[in-house]
Amino acid sequence: MNSTMQDAPLSITELFRHGAQVFPDSEIITFEGEQARHTSYAKVAERVNRLAGALRTLGIVPGDRVGTLCWNHQEHIEAYFAIPSMGAVLHTLNLRLPPPQLAQIINHAEDRVVIVDDSLTPLLASVIDQCPSIENVIVVGSGEVSGLGEPLAYETLLAAESPTFAWPEIDERSAASMCYTTGTTGDPKGVAYSHRSVYLHSFAVWATFHLDDRGRLLIIVPMFHVNAWGTPYAGWLVGSDLLLPGRFLQPQGLCDFIRQERPTFTGGVPTILTALLNHVQANGGDVSSIKTAVCGGSAVPATLITAYRDVLGIELWQAWGMTETSPIAAIAFPPKGTAPEDEMIYRSKTGRVVPGVELRLVDDSGAEIPHDGEAVGEIEVRGPWITASYYNAEAPEKFHDGWLRTGDVGNIDARNYVQITDRSKDVIKSGGEWISSVELETLLVGHPAVAEAAVVGVHDDRWAERPLALLVLKPGASATPDELRDFLAPKVARWWLPERWTFVDELPKTSVGKLDKKLIRAEYGREKFSVIELEHAKR
Ligand code: AMP
Repeated sequence: MNSTMQDAPLSITELFRHGAQVFPDSEIITFEGEQARHTSYAKVAERVNRLAGALRTLGIVPGDRVGTLCWNHQEHIEAYFAIPSMGAVLHTLNLRLPPPQLAQIINHAEDRVVIVDDSLTPLLASVIDQCPSIENVIVVGSGEVSGLGEPLAYETLLAAESPTFAWPEIDERSAASMCYTTGTTGDPKGVAYSHRSVYLHSFAVWATFHLDDRGRLLIIVPMFHVNAWGTPYAGWLVGSDLLLPGRFLQPQGLCDFIRQERPTFTGGVPTILTALLNHVQANGGDVSSIKTAVCGGSAVPATLITAYRDVLGIELWQAWGMTETSPIAAIAFPPKGTAPEDEMIYRSKTGRVVPGVELRLVDDSGAEIPHDGEAVGEIEVRGPWITASYYNAEAPEKFHDGWLRTGDVGNIDARNYVQITDRSKDVIKSGGEWISSVELETLLVGHPAVAEAAVVGVHDDRWAERPLALLVLKPGASATPDELRDFLAPKVARWWLPERWTFVDELPKTSVGKLDKKLIRAEYGREKFSVIELEHAKR
């Protein structure tokens, strides 16, 4: 029997229309260093129409890719709505990629137009000769432009267009936007989100993050990385004020913006939220307007969650996801009835699967293993906002009977709480047993002297692999390897304790701020670190 329901397409055009009509007075606020630029949804909506007109005048038709090389700001929001709603595909370019990789993804996506910030024109200029698909460059801002000849000016183009655009009917399964993986384990691969997947994911983000039109959402996660976790679309859908920090992502800039504009909610990777906490502890700063922050992208140390609660009065929610999962797949809320003293057991887990996503755990042979909170395997996911393939790239090893292989290793309990212990490529196998590098790292940053920690497996003649701990100490702090082992000893099995230690000024990170363990292992191989080996601790 057929249903009697209407078949309205699930599209970004619909998200856009709803926010614009229902919340015309909600604000879009861009930080510009000292001052913030305020505008309303109604004004932005008109400019979205003009931008679509301008792109059509330039010959952009449905299916064409339009790149953005931009920080988080009002014009990037305009591109987020105009490009998909006109049927074209928004390709957010990661401005931290090394130029050869940037050129590679522009070429792979065949971007016809790139919208670029004036401050980022030198970066685009460094690759444009190698990117034959780019026909037009549109520059946002009136600052100096370097190396791009006479590009088009964003404001001039918008001024020449009509404030209304005839939005086409959209096939909800067509591509709306795309983002490339960061390529730490191979070439970057393109994930193309559909209108339908963005629409459904927005509803999930709205519900999971408890967003509404009273909220003021500070979007720190870069809009070039997985649609800033979907927060611009979900926030707009429900009329939250969107606060965009531009390129002012250093703790001082964020603190100034927070003090001036008083966001209620934010999100970010652990490195950024740790830097903000350290800054406030060292220099003071009023971040009291923020009630909740979502943290994910890499493991969130329990000590960060408690410090946010105790020092800043902010509830920190750990979430898990990846470029391929749009990204929201799990969030760590304690189950109802949890006693206050047990809350941290759940808050420090990776997360509980969100509605719409299914999880399973498989062993090395691909056989399913139980969700008992103990058995360890690779996590596989499926659902309407999980990718089923990569754009124009074969990667059969990433999929398994219709499930995405996440490459994350861990356990799942009976209520579908996930605990990630490693990336499969980073697992340390010592004498046939697994050591969780993630757990050692999150424990080590709980030591008062440690600012950052990375643990990787390195060759050992006796045990095949043993953990090497790399640490960045806090300014002025000191700690010896023996002290750090004593600190870890009551918390982990004895054979997990590293006997190789190195202290560095900085840990290698990827373009989205995650530990670059591939590089760490390579640098260890090239003997770039001076390693302290504790002979007395060797087993
Ligand atoms: P990306 O596609 O660059 O966003 O990276 C996704 C990967 O980040 C995941 O596969 C995980 O390995 C890691 N990740 C994301 N969130 C978490 C989390 N809460 N805990 C541990 N790892 C995480």
